[in-house]
Amino acid sequence: MKQVALVALVVSLSLIAAPRAQSDQALNPTAALLQELIRVDTSNPPGLEGRIDELIAARLRPLGFEILIVPTPVEGKSHLIARLRGDGSRRPVLLASHADVVGVEKEKWTVDPFGGQVKDGRIYGRGALDFKGGIAVFARAVMQLAENKVPLARDVIFVVEADEESAPYNTTWLAQTHWSDMDCEFALNEGGWIMADDNGHVRYVSVSTADKTSISVILTAHGTSTHSSMPRADNAITSLSKAIAKLSAYETPIQLTPSTRRFFTTLANTSPPPMAASFRDLIGTDAAAVARADREISRDPLLHAIMRNTLAPVMLNAGFRNNVIPGSADATINVRIIPGTDPNQIVRDFERVIGDPAVSVRLSTPSAGPSRIPASSEDTDLYRALEREARATFTGAEVTPYLFQAGTDAGAWRNRGVPVYGIYPYPITADQLTRMHGNDENVSVESLRQGTEMIYKTLVDVASKH
Ligand SMILES: [Zn+2]
Repeated sequence: MKQVALVALVVSLSLIAAPRAQSDQALNPTAALLQELIRVDTSNPPGLEGRIDELIAARLRPLGFEILIVPTPVEGKSHLIARLRGDGSRRPVLLASHADVVGVEKEKWTVDPFGGQVKDGRIYGRGALDFKGGIAVFARAVMQLAENKVPLARDVIFVVEADEESAPYNTTWLAQTHWSDMDCEFALNEGGWIMADDNGHVRYVSVSTADKTSISVILTAHGTSTHSSMPRADNAITSLSKAIAKLSAYETPIQLTPSTRRFFTTLANTSPPPMAASFRDLIGTDAAAVARADREISRDPLLHAIMRNTLAPVMLNAGFRNNVIPGSADATINVRIIPGTDPNQIVRDFERVIGDPAVSVRLSTPSAGPSRIPASSEDTDLYRALEREARATFTGAEVTPYLFQAGTDAGAWRNRGVPVYGIYPYPITADQLTRMHGNDENVSVESLRQGTEMIYKTLVDVASKH
């Protein structure tokens, strides 16, 4: 492992990658497929992911995959379940990927978000990373198994999902009626990162074994509804603003899960000073050193997010005309919680921090308590295969389990005791990471090739007869 400047990766989110020589004509098969996928706009709502299912099915069918397209009650929205048969001596391995994407602020993009343009060795477009790039990598990897006629001891199932970015017809819905078609020993999904510096050198590969959960908390401020010409002290909008300001100044305590602890240990081992010391302090026991390390490390929003519950005001609803002071005002606070956190405790914490009887706090959906989904075990053939092939593909990179900072569709499997390992299967830089769900989302053409190789070899390891 080269002891290179991880500090740049960690503290700077504005890295600009050097242009690479790669022409449009030289696209590898994964990149060419991604380009096609980006050109089908599946912004959700409405998603209409069925068009992606048809595109992928047309590639897989001639290679001998059994194709099942499951329609949802929404016309044009479906799931694809493709199966490449093994001899059945071992239980299936599954690859899950979602076909829908989040919407775009088109005017803020420098390229057409649905054009699949190639520039400086990168493909641009909504979903390039999340998760059409993943569909392309997974699809090409399973296609290669068929093309190379790899003898399989287990079925390889490839699922292209609808409604990951927005419910209700997501994999949880699919599992209610089609569990037997998606049942497996273990699965791959989106999740962890193959983090590279701006020269493309991979520092570490994080494989998510658990996801944070998203909950929404509604703040409602109450005041006197009256004529705006006679303002009073109990203005609902003012009370709501003060409550949001207090929450924004509130930092939640650090909570390191076993996998987060290992992730920071990896960073401590692979970073140069002074960041190596900060990572080591964070997993230590000296409270003052932990607090100091937290301040330093939390300059990176991703690292800040995986070590604690985070909160973000996301929507406001207040007022209806310019001469009326409204009697109430609402804010939605999106909270991402670490597994095991009780959502009801979050409400109590917010009430304490806000400390204003004029502002009520509630969950958007009532909760019965903390989720009890265990993290996926690393003691499986799939985790070991992925770890081995990640090290082989990205020489010198460390591999570590990881708590994913956002939510995914893995719950449909993890809830039923099936281990799911999350990875965005391509090296990316910190700058590219900030563009996910943002503007000018892109992935490098070479990263797609490397990712396909890693996933293909992982599948050969875990599914072939040997
Ligand atoms: Zn995603």
